[in-house]
Amino acid sequence: MSKTANKKDKNIVSEFRRDLVSGDWILISSLRNTRPHFLSKKGKVKKKASIKNCPFEDPQKSGNADPVLQYFKPLSKDWFVQVIPNKYPLLLKNKLCASFDLEGVHQRIDAIGFHEIVITRDHKKNLEKMSPDEITMILKAYQERYKTMEKNKCIDYILIFYNKGELAGATVEHPHSQIVAMPITPPDVSSSISGGSDFFKKYKKCIHCAILDREIKEKKRVVFQNKHFITINPYASRVPYETRIFPLKHSSDFEETPENQIVYLAEALKDALKRISKVLKNPDYNFFIHTSAVNMKNVPYYHWHIEILPRTYKWAGMELGTGIEVVVVPPEKAAEHLRSVL
Ligand SMILES: [Zn+2]
Ligand SMILES: [Zn+2]
Repeated sequence: MSKTANKKDKNIVSEFRRDLVSGDWILISSLRNTRPHFLSKKGKVKKKASIKNCPFEDPQKSGNADPVLQYFKPLSKDWFVQVIPNKYPLLLKNKLCASFDLEGVHQRIDAIGFHEIVITRDHKKNLEKMSPDEITMILKAYQERYKTMEKNKCIDYILIFYNKGELAGATVEHPHSQIVAMPITPPDVSSSISGGSDFFKKYKKCIHCAILDREIKEKKRVVFQNKHFITINPYASRVPYETRIFPLKHSSDFEETPENQIVYLAEALKDALKRISKVLKNPDYNFFIHTSAVNMKNVPYYHWHIEILPRTYKWAGMELGTGIEVVVVPPEKAAEHLRSVL
């Protein structure tokens, strides 16, 4: 049984458990069971989820804590970006760091960390409809919160993500991103860090830089490029129209992206989401930022990037049974299609 100090209810479980065989970490979190769902099973907005009942129109009036960060547009008195602690967090705050325990043969660690929400003002305006200046404000809020959270010595990894629509796991329609700071590095990131590190040992080169060089030469899977960023559909895409955005110049840390480049990132992100929305007719999607772990700064073998996954279908037996995703649109065709719409 978990020994988390600030736990109110003994029946609440909030811990990472390691699969002894695969080595993967799983988060068991019964904390979130109580959160309200404003979207129905079919992805339709529930009646009660109208703007009038939306918990993010006036977050504090709806019982949320005061913002930890707020940005205003020039000359505006109303906030445009507001960051608040999640009322239904995946992880618990605690003054003490979590430590690894053994439960018989099993390994576990209390899910201690931070879970915050980044809300933008307009209920109906997802990122693809925002201006690059507005997206720049969101990206700056991500960076500012990341830099605050990474100072906490209990934190190993900080994930920033955005869910749009019920198929993507959103329970509130109002556009919002989430920042989760956790005591472990998640399996997807750690396996890609170790893959990058093995490649670097062998070839003295970043694997992502090597892939990007090739993509730029071949042009088959490149969707967009500006002065500092490139958008591609990866060779082994996991879902149709999976799209990734990379900085052209090698960098392992999203949070260190200089301000003059963030504007170009905003342009690339808006461009990618707009193309995906046009081609797939306003689909649900997730995007997340994969950056290096908190204690790894400026490493030559990891290259930070944004992954965008349109959610057009659900995993079935083949995918669940094998971990092999079946992708019905080759990434070369997807890139051609995405290039053609803007
Ligand atoms: Zn709203
Ligand atoms: Zn690189």
